[in-house]
Amino acid sequence: MSTASIDRQTIEAMVRNALRQSASPAPRTRSGNPPGWVNGKPNLRVSISARHVHLTDEHVEILFGPGAKLEPEKDLYQDGFYAAKQTVMVVGPRRRMLPSVRVLGPTRPASQVELAFTDSISLGIDAPVRHSGKIDGTPGCVLVGPVGSVQLHQGVIRAARHVHLNDADAEFYGVQNGDMMQLKIVSHECTTIFDDVLVRQDSAAKLEVHIDTDEGNACHLDAASEVQLLKISSGCACKH
Ligand SMILES: [Zn+2]
Repeated sequence: MSTASIDRQTIEAMVRNALRQSASPAPRTRSGNPPGWVNGKPNLRVSISARHVHLTDEHVEILFGPGAKLEPEKDLYQDGFYAAKQTVMVVGPRRRMLPSVRVLGPTRPASQVELAFTDSISLGIDAPVRHSGKIDGTPGCVLVGPVGSVQLHQGVIRAARHVHLNDADAEFYGVQNGDMMQLKIVSHECTTIFDDVLVRQDSAAKLEVHIDTDEGNACHLDAASEVQLLKISSGCACKH
């Protein structure tokens, strides 16, 4: 075997290795569990998503200065997502405003402001319930940063409740991307069932329901004794 062919084999092996490593995130973690699983089972987590802003790269530079980038301050439970150090002022009509709204990263193709109903009332913006990214025809606002400001012509929404889950979670619950589920929060004197929980399946996701601050307060999530995620049987209102 010539040196050249050995080199080629070595190179091919290196390329194969590199390709394997750069493939989409492995569905199993090193422990052999799917992402987020504990003791061989999904570990349901329900999180309150407080008001926040997503920005484009362009808007980050306008608001925070040329060359500015989002600076991660705190990792979110979903891998790769973070709360940035930066905040912006969100200004509505008649100069009503929320002075310090957290920016979440990474940046996105379109800027978007996610509010709870109470936030939208205090801003004076009639924000519709929408799923993230579905912002056509929604109201706008003005964002003000330390360096500049941006007029958003649309993108102010109340984020619709949803559950992030991976393929193993979806199999466990017998659901698929786009399905609706129910979330039951058992709390003293205010147990609540939320319908219309959209399934957002991603192979790298960890099982986590996102509700807004109004929803979390209504069911006193912080003091809940139990949380359950329930599949809705199709074509039949009963649960059997
Ligand atoms: Zn979410």
